[in-house]
Formats: sequence, C-alpha cells, structure tokens
Amino acid sequence: ASGYTLLRDPHHNKGLAFTEKERDAHYLRGLLPPAVLTQDLQEKRLMHNLRQYEVPLNRYTAMMDLQERNERLFYKLLIDNVEELLPVVYTPTVGEACQKYGSIFRRPQGLYISLKEKGKILEVLKNWPEKSIQVIVVTDGERILGLGDLGCQGMGIPVGKLSLYTALGGIRPSACLPVTIDVGTNNEQLLKDEFYIGLRHKRATGQEYAELLDEFMCAVKQNYGEKVLVQFEDFANHNAFELLARYRSTHLVFNDDIQGTASVVLAGIIAALKLVGGTLADHTFLFLGAGEAGTGIAELIALEMSKQTKAPVEETRKKIWLVDSKGLIVSSRRESLQHFKQPWAHEHEPVKGLLGAVKAIKPTVLIGSSGVGKTFTKEVVETMASLNKKPLILALSNPTSQSECTAEEAYTWSEGRAIFASGSPFDPVEYNGKVFVPGQANNAYIFPGFGLGLIISGAIRVHDDMLLAASEALAAQTTRENFDKGLIYPPFSNIRKISAHIAAKVAAKAYELGLASRLPRPKDLVKYAESCMYSPIYRSYR
Ligand code: NAP
Ligand code: MN
Repeated sequence: ASGYTLLRDPHHNKGLAFTEKERDAHYLRGLLPPAVLTQDLQEKRLMHNLRQYEVPLNRYTAMMDLQERNERLFYKLLIDNVEELLPVVYTPTVGEACQKYGSIFRRPQGLYISLKEKGKILEVLKNWPEKSIQVIVVTDGERILGLGDLGCQGMGIPVGKLSLYTALGGIRPSACLPVTIDVGTNNEQLLKDEFYIGLRHKRATGQEYAELLDEFMCAVKQNYGEKVLVQFEDFANHNAFELLARYRSTHLVFNDDIQGTASVVLAGIIAALKLVGGTLADHTFLFLGAGEAGTGIAELIALEMSKQTKAPVEETRKKIWLVDSKGLIVSSRRESLQHFKQPWAHEHEPVKGLLGAVKAIKPTVLIGSSGVGKTFTKEVVETMASLNKKPLILALSNPTSQSECTAEEAYTWSEGRAIFASGSPFDPVEYNGKVFVPGQANNAYIFPGFGLGLIISGAIRVHDDMLLAASEALAAQTTRENFDKGLIYPPFSNIRKISAHIAAKVAAKAYELGLASRLPRPKDLVKYAESCMYSPIYRSYR
C-alpha cells in the first residue's frame, strides 16, 4: 500500500513516530515533516493539548479524533491516564456527547441496525470490516445513563464502553463491535431536530421490537459463533429484564446495568465488611429504588449469602428490603408488583417513606438506587448512625446531581462514622481533622475484566457464580492502605492488574462449571490473562 494510505489507516498510523527506515520502506518520504518523535513524546504533547480545553465536550471530540487517526496512541493515552480520561471518554462527558451526537457527528463509529434493515441483519453484519468479533456492546438508546431516551444517538455508549473493554480489559480493538438498534425514539425534541440521525418516528414495541431483536441475536450467533459476548447496555428497564431472561440460556449475554452493577456493589460490600465487621448474613440491607440496579444488586447479595450460609436463597432474601416509589415493598402489595419485585415482598405492614422504612427495618447497610437525588436526608443518615456504629451507606444514583447524598453529608451527619461510596465521584472530605476518601462504585471495575475472563476461557454462557467470583476478586484487591483512607475500592490506576485478577477468577469459574471451551485450561490464569491483553505500544514495520 502507499504511504499516503498508511497515514490514513488508524490501525497502523504512527504519525511522526514512523522511523527513518519505515519512512523509506513504506513510501512515506516527504509525506511527514523531518522530526521523528517517540510514542511517549506524542503522548506528552497530546495530553498537553487535551488539558488546554476547558469544555469537556472538546476533550471528548479530541479523543474521538485521535481514535480515528491513530488507534494505538489513543489507547496509550487512555491506559496511562485512566483516572483523568475515563470521565472524558465515558460518563459524564459521553452523556453530553450522545445528547449532541447529531451535531458533532463526523465519521460513523459502530454498526447501525434499524427497522429498515429488518430481514437483512446478517448482511449488515457482513458489511463490518472486521470478521473475528469477541465482544458486542448493543443499546437501543431508550435509557442512556440517567438521560432517558436518546434514540439512535445512544451510539456513544457502545463506542465508549468498548474503548474501556480495550483500555481496561485488554480486548483487541478489532475484536470489539459497537451496535445501536434503532426502532425509533419517543424523545419529542429529537423527533423535531432537523439534524437527528435516527429513524424519525415513535418507538416500535411488542412483536415488531421483539422480532428485530431476535433477528439480531440469531444473526450474531450465526456470524460470530457461540463464544461472542453480547453486552446489553442502557435498555429501558422492562426490555432489559426480558432480553436477559430470554437469551441467557442460548447466548453468551451480560447486562451491565443489572449484573455488572450488582457485581461491583457486592464487591464494595464484601470489602467494607473488613471495616464494619461481621459476615454478609449478619447484616440487614435496605434499598431505595427497586429497578434494574436495585433488584440486580439485591439478588446477587442474596445469592452470595446463600452460598456462604448454605441457606436457600428464598431465606437469605429476607435480610434484604426494598423501597420503591410507592413505599416499602411488602407482601400485601404482591399482586400489583412487577415480576422482578415480587421476590422482595416480605411480611411487614405497609410503610410509606424511606425514613419510616429505616426506622422499621433498622438496616446496617443503606443503598440508594432510585435515580432521585437528595433522598438520604439528614434525618435518614442520622437514624442510620444512631442504629449502627459504622453504617454502610452507598449512594449509587448518577449523575452527581442525582446522588442520594454527598460524601460530605454522609460523613458529617454520621459524625465521621459512615463507610461511604457513591456512583458519581466525590472529592475527599475533611471532617474533625481526618480526611475521608469516598470510593466510587464504578461499573468499569468489573465489566472489562469480566469480559476478558469469558473470552480467555472460551465461555459459552454467563453464570451468576461468575459474577460472585468477579466480586470476590475485586474485593480482594482493596488493600489495608486503601481501607485506612476509608476506601472500599482500590484506585483505578491499577485497573489492568485488577482486570487480570477478575478475568482469572471468572475464567476459573467457567472451567469449574464446565462452561469453558478453551482446552486445556491454562495453569496460571492470571499470567495467561495478562499475556492475552492488548498492548498499545507501536509495532515496528519492516
Ligand atoms: P430504574 O430501573 O428505572 O429503577 C428506578 C427505581 O427507583 C424504581 O424502582 C423506582 O420506583 C424507584 N424510584 C424512583 N423514584 C423514587 C422515589 N422518589 N422514591 C423511591 N423510589 C423511587 O433505574 P436503574 O437502572 O435501576 O437506575 C437507578 C439509578 O442507579 C440511576 O440513577 C443510575 O444512574 C444508578 N446506577 C448506578 C450504578 C453505579 O453506581 N455503578 C450502576 C447502575 C445504575 P418504581 O419502580 O415504583 O417506579
Ligand atoms: Mn449502563
């Protein structure tokens, strides 16, 4: 190929890092200025440029441009500066990018499958240039982060998640496929927007929706085989539960909003027990919010408790209570409850608000998963602190404005006794001369390593025990030094090592359950996981 083409191929382009020899061998003479830079120097220059931008969205587009220009350099930046760049390529900035996707849209990333492609999805998959796909992240755009229905513009989410699969989990970029399924949108603003990139009608539902999704799932398996991982992302709650239930026994599927969240939060709780004391079964849990996140977490806690105590999960669920928009979920409400709430309808008289529920249930652990901010009021936190020496308080709702309480509130109102973590990041808080560092229950801790574990073992199904294995692996990565600062999660700077440990435990579980197809089993799974991880260092071309 010509040097000109090479410079425009993001998979191979190195820009000014092409050596003298490469410039001679690949017809690059004259197409580049004379200076030869190292990759490190390119990285330094780009980070410097990136930091000049005040507006987060400008950083996002600069990163997307880099990804389209020089893929390895993009991943080198992301890996080396993960704490700084995670909020740029992922939440919160990716949310704003999705909202404005129509106007910042440049070159299409990922695969768009709309109702227009009905009956032709297999052909559409074959249009994608890469043939050996290992991970697909798919959304239908109906519940993007906490931003609601963004229709076709949800594409930013699969693209962002997959760049984390590569950067944090070491999956090759060419093995990642972002997909957006467009069945319309109910977002009036988008329907009226002349720059909107999606189908301009209301969402298809019912049979029409189910058929398109089914054609997609069948085509995926036909084209990529049994071992391709399909991660459902940011589907609205009714479809999310249904799709997972429908495909978990026939495909390798994972829902990050339900299962990934559950695994991350369980890891935080397991780690926190080292600070709070007791076993899981010694604790009582109360949730505010009984949707995808809340019931997903609750179910995984009950499962782990059941493994530990050998009691049936029907019993361990009784240690866990949930409050939804209508109050405490209790048995007298069972008839009118959605099916995923029914296992949580325990015997109790009806209780209206959260404060009443805290007083009635006396939880040791309080978890916010309602999406509604400022709901852990002073009274709620004070009651938790009066009931417990070290109350565990997790305010998971995103973005920051929706957090149930701030880190400062949790520490102040509990007189510095709360163990606190949140979905959105908070700065360290000083209280009574002590500095408290709040942990972030970020899904990015789990899904990249989880996916890597499935891939390296050639797993063909996801089993809940793998989620438990991932939680335990993550919890084991929190060090004494982290605990001393109040952290229940390890810092992100070590994420590749953390991912390798999670992958190893997930893969081990896949072998144990007979769900692994890569045989023989590698002896040292951590080493094997590390050896499989993508490196962003430039190759030399001879
Ligand atoms: P969802 O499926 O829509 O569930 C929301 C739940 O909250 C529903 O059960 C709803 O009650 C309840 N709720 C809403 N308003 C309430 C109120 N005023 N009082 C009591 N309950 C109320 O949403 P989701 O996917 O679970 O997400 C919920 C939140 O969790 C979001 O903010 C999301 O950002 C956050 N989240 C965080 C993480 C993380 O930190 N790693 C991961 C995933 C999600 P009804 O059922 O009665 O409508
Ligand atoms: Mn999500």
